[in-house]
Amino acid sequence: MISIVVPCYNEEEAIPSFFKEVENIREQLTHEIEYIFVNDGSKDRTLACLRALHKQYPDRVRYLSFSRNFGKEAGLFAGLQAAKGDLITVMDADLQDPPDLLPQMVQMIETEDIDCVGTRRTTRDGEPAIRSFFARLFYKLINRIGETEMVDGARDFRLMTRQMVDSILELTEYNRFSKGIFSWVGYNTKYLSYENRERVAGETTWSFWSLLSYSIDGIINFSEVPLNIASYIGAFSCIGSVITMMVILFRTLIYGDPTSGWPSMVCIFLFVGGLQLLCLGIIGKYIGKIFMETKKRPVFIVKETEKDNDK
Ligand code: UDP
Ligand code: MG
Repeated sequence: MISIVVPCYNEEEAIPSFFKEVENIREQLTHEIEYIFVNDGSKDRTLACLRALHKQYPDRVRYLSFSRNFGKEAGLFAGLQAAKGDLITVMDADLQDPPDLLPQMVQMIETEDIDCVGTRRTTRDGEPAIRSFFARLFYKLINRIGETEMVDGARDFRLMTRQMVDSILELTEYNRFSKGIFSWVGYNTKYLSYENRERVAGETTWSFWSLLSYSIDGIINFSEVPLNIASYIGAFSCIGSVITMMVILFRTLIYGDPTSGWPSMVCIFLFVGGLQLLCLGIIGKYIGKIFMETKKRPVFIVKETEKDNDK
């Protein structure tokens, strides 16, 4: 059986066309299919839509509904936990992950010695240029400073074996960054490429700033390099200041002290003060993550599932 996990946030317009497309593909597959829609605290009629789908196809449409918006990462985690299939795939509801790739992915995972078939976009057409630029920059940066390799353009859309999903579920951290987690667990992954597609309906929930903070999260979660940079900056400015102190000392001894130069002094104060705040900020980011982890809060709270609907 194949489980299809679909996180949905305000997708009432996209879900019907998504379901229709995947149902069309289903006929090409010999496998049974189960859908697990995760309603991530949508503010529109997504939940009603899912209830109706379950009524119509009770044997293959399952859903979970969160008590509020917990974010896509939480949705993925919940969906993977609920999935019962031997092969599990993760798809966006907006059809940006083309379902017509599925048969090929299934065939690859069954005939080749791999545990996961990922997908990546070769183009970023239809995306603002500035966003593509920063996305590329992010992948360069994270692959240079992080220990976990992340593939540029790789989507969350992937087909995985039961074994790999079980490993992913063993990572119960609160700060979840799926792109990192998928590659951290290892296993053999092959990538299929496809051209970027635009959303069928609705709007993306990602603004430039939310993507920026998401990528900072990704770096903090999978790399300790920023912490090292903070200590390098500290050591560097320390050594630098000792050298300049010597220079100033000898200069005063040789040429006397003409009490000039306080503007440059102020600049140095500001510079050093700024460095200290920057480093504190980096450390603070990590402490914030530790703080959230130690609370051991659940990653999501489920308010309703299809079982409640059956009663
Ligand atoms: N999503 C979610 N919770 C959120 C935001 C998004 O479950 O808080 C879902 C959304 O419904 C969609 C998928 O995550 O199925 C990808 O979202 P989106 O299309 O907005 O992102 P993009 O494709 O622009 O990266
Ligand atoms: Mg999308």
